Amino acid sequence: MTANLLGLDAQGMEELVARLGEKPFRARQLLKWIHRRGAADFASMTDIARSLREKLAAAAVIEAPAVVGESATADGTRKWLLKVDGANAVEAVFIPETGRGTLCVSSQAGCTLDCAFCSTGKQGFNRNLATAEIVGQLWLANKALGAYRNDQPVVGGPARPITNVVFMGMGEPTLNLDNVIPALKLMIDDNGYGLSRRRVTVSTSGVVPGMDRLAAECPVALAVSLHAPDDELRDRIVPINRKYPLKDLMAACNRYLEVAPRDFITFEYVMLDGVNDSDAHARGLVALAKKVRCKFNLIPFNPFPQSGFKRSSDARIRGFAQVLQRAGLTVTTRKTRGDEIDAACGQLAGDVADRTRRKTVSITEVRA
Ligand code: SAH
Ligand code: SF4
Repeated sequence: MTANLLGLDAQGMEELVARLGEKPFRARQLLKWIHRRGAADFASMTDIARSLREKLAAAAVIEAPAVVGESATADGTRKWLLKVDGANAVEAVFIPETGRGTLCVSSQAGCTLDCAFCSTGKQGFNRNLATAEIVGQLWLANKALGAYRNDQPVVGGPARPITNVVFMGMGEPTLNLDNVIPALKLMIDDNGYGLSRRRVTVSTSGVVPGMDRLAAECPVALAVSLHAPDDELRDRIVPINRKYPLKDLMAACNRYLEVAPRDFITFEYVMLDGVNDSDAHARGLVALAKKVRCKFNLIPFNPFPQSGFKRSSDARIRGFAQVLQRAGLTVTTRKTRGDEIDAACGQLAGDVADRTRRKTVSITEVRA
């Protein structure tokens, strides 16, 4: 089978070059050509002997998903629609901020977890993305943002455009760790993208075994989608809570913190008008926060057709944040970026050939 080198981490690349009868340093050269210089063609790899380049061309490809759509906003947010096969397309979003650039990547075509307020979840699930399809998002975005030219990094230009990666696009990364972990390893590898572990964030809705495996194999910064202070409400809006309730989730967060590159977990909290946004809910969070070192990130709900939810008012979000702040907690409110191109959190839908037959949760069911 033809190997796609875009999906091989250091170990995978060393195994491949060994199979070709070559020395391990060739693996490092290849990683640098592909990820630091954006090379897609073996012919351009001038420090690799022609005979090896020919062997590679016969045995391997460097292939990213095809860009089939692109949009941008005035503030520089960009979104790419990437075709991963005949039936599925996923999305990646670049968000520039002063001093940093964040790429939000997808890990699955769709999602199995069906959170009530999430457009990806409403679409159903088709399949896990391969490592090359995950890393390919970073590789392509770097190219589109001008990080490389003629298979060379742009010298003297701005610093590398992507300084942070967040797994907050489509899918639940901890349900695809076989492919996500090698992608993470490439992101933090000095011969790959060279990002620090603190600048790569996996976001999970709370899949406890996945959190433990990530901690053991490749701990990076962790965000947990909390969205409710108690099991009763969380069971309804984040259905995975029925399997891993808050007590188990908080214990998993504390186990994660033992090896995490940051000394806190980020709790994400989507602000849903009249559902989870009262002062009493905020006080519930204050109680939860006593159990885990954490920071809160409030996300104003981003609407999509037929969601059945409304965004909390700005005043309510400020009031909610104040309850947390007065209790000494650190709170940020996510700026809504990219919503005019449906690129904001939870609006990513891509194009998923659903293989599940999902019933839609109605708003009355959620509010009941
Ligand atoms: N599956 C992972 C990562 C992808 S979702 C997770 O759930 O954490 C990234 C973040 O966007 C999560 O916190 C998710 O709950 C949030 N989100 C989903 N739908 C949203 C919406 N419509 N508006 C705002 N945030 C949303
Ligand atoms: Fe899946 Fe995350 Fe959306 Fe929930 S919020 S359905 S886990 S992508």
